[in-house]
Amino acid sequence: MSRRFPPRGVSSGNSRGTRRRPGEPAAARRLREPPSTRSSRASSTDARDSRERPTATTKSGNDARVSSRRAAREAHERKSARLAVGLYHAALRALPAAVRVWFADLRDKGFAGALASATAACVSPALLAAEFDAVERASEGNYGAGGLDDDAGELTIKASRGNREVIARYDIDDACLELVVRLPASYPLAAAELDCAKRVGISEARLRKWMLTVTSILQHQNGAVAEGLMLWRSNIDREFKGVEPCPICYLVIHGTNHQTPRLVCRQCSNKFHSACLYKWFQSSSGSKCPLCQVPWGSNYR
Ligand SMILES: [Zn+2]
Ligand SMILES: [Zn+2]
Repeated sequence: MSRRFPPRGVSSGNSRGTRRRPGEPAAARRLREPPSTRSSRASSTDARDSRERPTATTKSGNDARVSSRRAAREAHERKSARLAVGLYHAALRALPAAVRVWFADLRDKGFAGALASATAACVSPALLAAEFDAVERASEGNYGAGGLDDDAGELTIKASRGNREVIARYDIDDACLELVVRLPASYPLAAAELDCAKRVGISEARLRKWMLTVTSILQHQNGAVAEGLMLWRSNIDREFKGVEPCPICYLVIHGTNHQTPRLVCRQCSNKFHSACLYKWFQSSSGSKCPLCQVPWGSNYR
């Protein structure tokens, strides 16, 4: 501890100030030397200066630790990304209508566009193939009587994979209706679109109502297209039997609980599904009839 270096600015007798002073530690000399001198002398000093080696080893050890931490973090991120994609795929398959509601509410339009493209490229092909498999299974037999009675119409479903279309034809007596369901590339993130290809013996008003029915089924139900078309068929079978659809959801048979409209407004005599009416009361924070606006039950005796 008694050893002292000459004060700064005092000449040591060498213009570059790099000569080894008696008793000076190698590390102190390295700090004093300009880098160029240090590198030129490195080969000769390495053999003597054993204290420099642990520094280099520690540095490479640190590098190894940092890169292994980075690799672990990247592996974790890849695993999380795979999990997220798997969850998204499962949600789109099981709850497409719920995912569509979430997607429609996205504020970041850039992200929404990127998600739609990624869905069309990576997720939709498998889901579309499953959808068309289901439609082909459904189209193997014509749908004759729906189990109600012999007067029910006949539904024929055809799949056209190349055009991503499902053609549904409903025949009853002399009337027929042909609907084309187009599945977009990012289906089911984007809902199916509906078009009327042929209409014989069916009024414009009835067609409009049925288009609304099928659109409502395809957009808001979580089932497959084939299931939706079957539900539509049982709806129009009932309609031909004279049962009026619910004015809220445009369906005769409720999409979830399969009930017919039973709650009657005493004022306007319209019939509603109980589930639809309760949902309407909740969302409107009141209990008025959706059509005549008279408080529900006010004129019950
Ligand atoms: Zn309803
Ligand atoms: Zn009413």
